[in-house]
Amino acid sequence: MKVLVIGGGAREHALCLALSSDPVVEELHCAPGNAGIAAIAELHPLDVRDTVATATVAAQLGVDLVVVGPEIPLVAGAADAVRAQGIACFGPSRAAAQLEGSKAFAKEVMASADVPTAASRVCRDQRQVAGALDEFGPPYVVKDDGLAAGKGVLVTTDRDAATAHAAHCERVVVEEFLDGPEVSLFAITDGVTVVPLVPAQDFKRVGDDDAGPNTGGMGAYAPLPWVPSGLVDEVTTTVLQPTVDEMRRRGTPFAGLLYAGLALTSKGTRVVEFNARFGDPETQVVLALLKTPLAGLLHAAATGTLSQHPPLRWGDGFAVTVVVAASGYPEQPRTGDVINGLAAVPGPAYALHAGTAARDGEVVSSGGRVLSITATAPTLQDARDAAYAGVAQIRLEGAHHRADIALKALRGEIVVPT
Ligand code: AMP
Repeated sequence: MKVLVIGGGAREHALCLALSSDPVVEELHCAPGNAGIAAIAELHPLDVRDTVATATVAAQLGVDLVVVGPEIPLVAGAADAVRAQGIACFGPSRAAAQLEGSKAFAKEVMASADVPTAASRVCRDQRQVAGALDEFGPPYVVKDDGLAAGKGVLVTTDRDAATAHAAHCERVVVEEFLDGPEVSLFAITDGVTVVPLVPAQDFKRVGDDDAGPNTGGMGAYAPLPWVPSGLVDEVTTTVLQPTVDEMRRRGTPFAGLLYAGLALTSKGTRVVEFNARFGDPETQVVLALLKTPLAGLLHAAATGTLSQHPPLRWGDGFAVTVVVAASGYPEQPRTGDVINGLAAVPGPAYALHAGTAARDGEVVSSGGRVLSITATAPTLQDARDAAYAGVAQIRLEGAHHRADIALKALRGEIVVPT
């Protein structure tokens, strides 16, 4: 199989790593990729927002499967453009990607499918915003309706800040605050069959103890030793399958990766959000544990044959990833700095590249999230220690990372309300 991965972050590096170890993959391409992916895939320049160019690259390379990593091309219709060339594509159509592209649309689908989520109001002016803030009370949750790279959501007890955030959004969703720990659950689907992966947890805020603004994600671990047994089955039955069925019923089947961001609240499991693609950085840990060859799995989802795919196999143990971010991330990341120490990252840790580029034989930073240092080990403690031992080797001026990835889980401090 010849495979083309679209994107250039640590998620795509993790996807390429898994695909490159699948024996059926004879050629692996990535567009645009990054300095780390270049070691395992042939890179091609691409503006991922350009769906026509994406389909053209796929056709020129004669690939059998395209895997679209980021949400922006999916929401723009990259999967439709690729399929129009007669090429199998892992990733939902433009219409189905609205599950991520519009929070208001996702809420409407959840309401139709009876999927449990936070009560919410879609607001179009400040008067409606004020009414919704009064209705739900603090802590206030205010969401930009459209794509915002994980940074469009404000959760605050400060009413003025909530109102100000809403004023910056074109259309805004105000919703009930959900208490309880969060879980990311990914499912592979061909639009009919749903295959859940292992639950993971990510860390959205920039600082330790969830201080500071939301980011694209600062770290993750999997599996989650503290989740109730039966959670995956419950969410498959009450969230994932009904959503996939509802999208098919609407004539816009969702095929690709359905990502449910969940809160385990005192009232039960609630959907915080849907994403239409592999999450970053959870993918780095989930794929580190997956033993089933990835290309066959994604190809089955892309070709409507997932019901015939054998059950997934998982490695024992745990995976932890820690994101090394550039100075100034998330507000104003500084780029162009030399990264040293990559070759010194000790096993079992390894460096997945995110915002990196090659320059004059060196690797330099080219984005806000620069590296995802990932490790697997038989215990969560060992996986965490190994990931941080890797982080300690990285030299990048002004870089920062969270020091508490997976720490509460390890200390048994995560409580699921009952
Ligand atoms: P989203 O982009 O919808 O995932 O929101 C980003 C983050 O904001 C989530 O991971 C949560 O930590 C937080 N968040 C979103 N919605 C809520 C909510 N209704 N209650 C509490 N926290 C929320």
